[in-house]
Amino acid sequence: MHSDWSTVSVDMEITNQCGSECLMCPREGIIRPKGMMSDNAFKIVSDKLVREGSLITFSGMGDPLSHPRVFEWISGIRSKNSDVGIVINPASLNKGISQKLIESRPNSITISFPSIQKEVFEKLCPTVLFEEALKRTLELVDLSRGKVGLRIAGITTEINGDEQKDYVSFWKLRDIRAVMTACHGRGGNLKDSDIYELKTSSLDSGRCGLFQFHTFVTWEAEVLACCHDLTGATRIGDLINDDVSIIAERKQNILKDVMPFPVCQQCDEPLRLYPPPQGPPPKSRKERTRFFRSISRDNLS
Ligand code: SF4
Ligand code: SF4
Repeated sequence: MHSDWSTVSVDMEITNQCGSECLMCPREGIIRPKGMMSDNAFKIVSDKLVREGSLITFSGMGDPLSHPRVFEWISGIRSKNSDVGIVINPASLNKGISQKLIESRPNSITISFPSIQKEVFEKLCPTVLFEEALKRTLELVDLSRGKVGLRIAGITTEINGDEQKDYVSFWKLRDIRAVMTACHGRGGNLKDSDIYELKTSSLDSGRCGLFQFHTFVTWEAEVLACCHDLTGATRIGDLINDDVSIIAERKQNILKDVMPFPVCQQCDEPLRLYPPPQGPPPKSRKERTRFFRSISRDNLS
């Protein structure tokens, strides 16, 4: 299993392309190249991460469901007895896609469904009507029952700050696990927004909690500090040419001091406040699951 904490969890941005225009997403500011991960890059990167026992999640600054190989790649990782989750948006769902997604058997699906208030939802996700998004989400939920772990993720912003209780009850009534977290500024990239205001971005220790156990890989196999880096300025290496151990060593060196990246100075991502993990990295899936339960966003907020 894991030789180091830094790749216990890995977000793999299989693409940074997306047809949605969510208001809480600063993706219009991406200046690093845009594209889709190639078969070759996926094979090399996923083989390394599977050997390491990483929990891989297809997410990042793009829509993983728009990648033509997404279902094949999920099945491929699962067939190697490894774990993979995916974060999706209801705008990309239809019956056929939902069916294929469930058949590919990811370990978990997180559906980003910002709000249950129609007006708020349609302001935050202007490319899909609330009723349509709800219909597609409930179709996927029905297909997932007894097969794939699924949860809904909402977001509190300046226009729905008091929604949390109603949101969780709404989904609970439908027997669906849901969490709501506060909108954050994606490393200072969410600018000129009437749905978000920066409250605090101080990092008392100067070190990022998320960076300690989590690694972000772009569609080009570049390892960046995290997905909030829209420029590629936090490059640590790449998983085509570098071994996981090299990346881990570079990350450990960075963690010896305060985070050196400008994007971190404006970051209010809640998980950055997580204290250093204690002891050796998880030796089994069970230990890894226990670790993630202990640091869930619900526990931090
Ligand atoms: S939040 Fe996700 S679905 Fe929305 S625009 Fe950003 S990448 Fe696309
Ligand atoms: S401090 Fe924020 S921007 Fe920096 S690595 Fe951590 S989560 Fe990313």
